[in-house]
Amino acid sequence: MQNIFDYDLKSLCSRFAELNIPKFRAKQVFLWLHKKLVFDFSLMSDLPLELREVLSQNFAIGLPRIIKTFKSKDKTIKFLFGLSDGTRIESVLLKSSDGRFTICVSTQVGCPLACAFCATGQSGFKRNLTASEIIGQVYLITKNFPGVTNIVYMGMGEPFLNYANVVKSINVLISKEGLNFGQRKISISTSGIPEKIRIFAAEDWQVRLAVSLNSADERIRSRLMPINKKIPLSRIKDAIKYYISRTGRRVTLEYIMIKDVNDTPDALVSLLDFCQGLLVNVNLIPFNSIGGSFKASEIKTVNLFLRTLINNKINVNLRNRRGEDIQAACGQLAFKPL
Ligand code: SAH
Ligand code: SF4
Repeated sequence: MQNIFDYDLKSLCSRFAELNIPKFRAKQVFLWLHKKLVFDFSLMSDLPLELREVLSQNFAIGLPRIIKTFKSKDKTIKFLFGLSDGTRIESVLLKSSDGRFTICVSTQVGCPLACAFCATGQSGFKRNLTASEIIGQVYLITKNFPGVTNIVYMGMGEPFLNYANVVKSINVLISKEGLNFGQRKISISTSGIPEKIRIFAAEDWQVRLAVSLNSADERIRSRLMPINKKIPLSRIKDAIKYYISRTGRRVTLEYIMIKDVNDTPDALVSLLDFCQGLLVNVNLIPFNSIGGSFKASEIKTVNLFLRTLINNKINVNLRNRRGEDIQAACGQLAFKPL
């Protein structure tokens, strides 16, 4: 049986036509599923009973299911989802002091890029998520915790290695017949895949882009992110420049601060150099331990980075550490038993 969440509104209309169901019914059903978040045909009260019956004979309602939730002291909540093939993923809901309520979604089961500092990367790679598995994380969390203000594609996996499904999921999330989620309230974080950054720049929307830089020095970046051996920084920088010129939008550069690895005075000079002339916003991220030899930078080093970037007129933020006690912090998602 086909999963009804695999259809966008247009393809649902065509499928309904094949089943001799009037087109306007597709819109009604879409509203129930994607706006009212009702996941049971029998509860779709404005549909004739026979139609509800036909729908349940022809379509499955296939969404991930929440297996377990973990609540942190700082109110961060981590969700462990089970997928239809028995694999598992995690998503996180974060409440910021400025009132933002952000869902961090996964796009792959594991991640093939194996960054040295990231638990997901160390856990290996199983497969891409389907669009409905991505949307499903948002729907189930929103249904349980209304009032979500932001969505970040920053959980497990590399979104730009699952580009088609990521785009499909965004189109459904921002659709008027669905959650109608604000485009500017959605961000995608990528390790930096130049061809996809260029394609992303041409998408007709306002979704934001973040690039995990982590080092502006080839040697150090290759040590941290093996993909850098194949894609030099100059190509990433060119793609970012293209994105900015095409969209006029600022790009966030994420920089995890790791003691004595990418927080040296030389590393700072390389970072300043990389940012020169780019419309960027640097997000300094405290390193969250994943049990290896890396350590978080000292506060005085983080402050030096902050001050120097500000003095050089580069926008900079320091990300709060959240959910560390439940392994829900950035880079810690790898469904380790607690
Ligand atoms: N693959 C994408 C998105 C998922 S990773 C990417 O790399 O951008 C999401 C974020 O978690 C990235 O900003 C990454 O730099 C950060 N991250 C990974 N491991 C981390 C760790 N141990 N401590 C802090 N941040 C980490
Ligand atoms: Fe993959 Fe991002 Fe983790 Fe690197 S940081 S391994 S790209 S999820």
